[in-house]
Amino acid sequence: MNTSKSEAMFAEAIKMMPGGVNSPVRAFGNVGRNPLFIKKASGSHIYDVDGNDYIDYVCSWGPGILGHAHPEVIEAVQKAVVDGLTFGAPTERETKLCHLVNECMPSMEMMRMVSSGTEAVMSAIRAARGYTGRDKIIKFKGCYHGHSDGLLVKAGSAALTSSVPDSAGVPKSFTEKTLVALYNDENSVRELFDNNKGEIAALIVEPVAANMGVVPPKEGFLSFLREITKENGAVLIFDEVITGFRLSAGGAQEYYNIKPDLTTLGKIVGGGMPMAVYGGKAEIMKCVSPVGKVYQAGTLSGNPVATAAGIKTVELLMKNPDIYAKIDGNAKKLAKAYEEAAKKNNIAMTVNQVGSLLCAYFTEQKVDDYDKATSSDLEAFSAYFGKMLDGGIYVAPSQFEAMFVSAAHTDEEIQKTCELILK
Ligand SMILES: *Cc1c(COP(=O)(O)O)cnc(C)c1O
Repeated sequence: MNTSKSEAMFAEAIKMMPGGVNSPVRAFGNVGRNPLFIKKASGSHIYDVDGNDYIDYVCSWGPGILGHAHPEVIEAVQKAVVDGLTFGAPTERETKLCHLVNECMPSMEMMRMVSSGTEAVMSAIRAARGYTGRDKIIKFKGCYHGHSDGLLVKAGSAALTSSVPDSAGVPKSFTEKTLVALYNDENSVRELFDNNKGEIAALIVEPVAANMGVVPPKEGFLSFLREITKENGAVLIFDEVITGFRLSAGGAQEYYNIKPDLTTLGKIVGGGMPMAVYGGKAEIMKCVSPVGKVYQAGTLSGNPVATAAGIKTVELLMKNPDIYAKIDGNAKKLAKAYEEAAKKNNIAMTVNQVGSLLCAYFTEQKVDDYDKATSSDLEAFSAYFGKMLDGGIYVAPSQFEAMFVSAAHTDEEIQKTCELILK
C-alpha cells in the first residue's frame, strides 16, 4: 500500500503541531506507524490522500453513526451555511434541537449547548456544584470525560482517597476535589460516600465505559449509582458523549432504563459538527446564568450550522429506529468473528460488545474494569492493527478505543471485515 503522500504531509505537520496532530490518539503512536492523511469520506468509507480506500470503524470516534457525509445532513448544512456561519444571537434551530433531545431523553428537561464534550462535562459539573453547594466529585478510573483540569486524574496510591493529576500542567490542588472510584465496584463508591458525608456534589460515569475499550456496567451497577447518589443528595451525571443516540435514540439511559439528574451529550448530537449539550433536571439547570449564579457561556455555542447538522442527524435516528437493530446485529457478527479468530489462532482474547460498540482485548481476562483492560497485550494489538489497515479496514489505532459500527456499513462490508479478522 502506497502512503507516500501521507508520509510527506506528516513530515510537514510535525513541524507545526505537536505530534503533527490536533488530538493525540490520531498520531498512531501506540501502533508504531504514522497517521494516514484523509482526503474525504463517504458512507462507510474513508479515503486517504494517496487514494487508498478503507472501510472505516472509527467513524470520527463516534459521531458518524449514519456514516460519513450523509446526503441529508450535508444538505441541511449547505442550506444553513448560506444564511451565515454564526450570529451570536438566538435562533429557532436551538430550541428545535432541544425539543428533539428532550423527546429522546425526557430526563433532559432543560439544556445548554456548547462546542465540545469537554466543555459539556466541565459545565455540568459546575452546575452540579452550584446546585448542591458542595465541591467534591466522584469519577471512575478509566472513564474519560474530556481534558478539563479537574478530570485529568488518576487514583492516588493512598487507596482511592486522594487523586493526583494524570497530566503535566495540572496543579495538584485542581484535582484534589476529584475522588476516583473503580468501575463496576460498588464498594469503592460506597467507601467514598461514607468517608465524605455531605461533601459530594456529583458522581459522573460513562454508563458504558467506552474510553478503555468497551466495558459494560455490571447488572445492577447503574441502579446502585442512582440509589447511592440519591441517598447522599449528590447529582448523578451520565456522560453520554459516546452512548447518547448510539445505544438507542434515548442513549444509555433508555437502554438501561435509569434516569440521571444531568446528562452530557456530544459526538452524534452535532452530526459531525463541533457541538455538545449538557442538561437535565430543570431545577439544576436553572442554576445556570443568566437565570442562576453558575456562570457558563460560549461565543459559538448553539452554532446555526452545527445545530442544522444535529437536528437532521437526530431526526434521521428518530425516524429510523430500525437502524439500531441493524448496527447492533452487525456489531454482534464482528464480535463473533473475533471470538472465532481467537479460538482458531489460539490467541488470548476477550470481546466486549454493547449495541454498536465493541472492543476485542488481547487478554484472556474477562474485562470489567480499567486494570483488566490494561492487561492487554499491546504488541499483539499493534500487529492486528497493521493487518487490518493493510487489508483495507480502518480501526482505531489503540487498544483502548471502541470500534464503532455505523448504519452505512453494508452486510458485504461486515462480511469482508469478518473474513479479514479470521485470517
Ligand atoms: C469524547 C468524549 C468526551 C470529550 O468530548 P470532546 O468533544 O472530545 O471534548 C467526553 N466524554 C466522553 C465519554 C467522550 O467519549
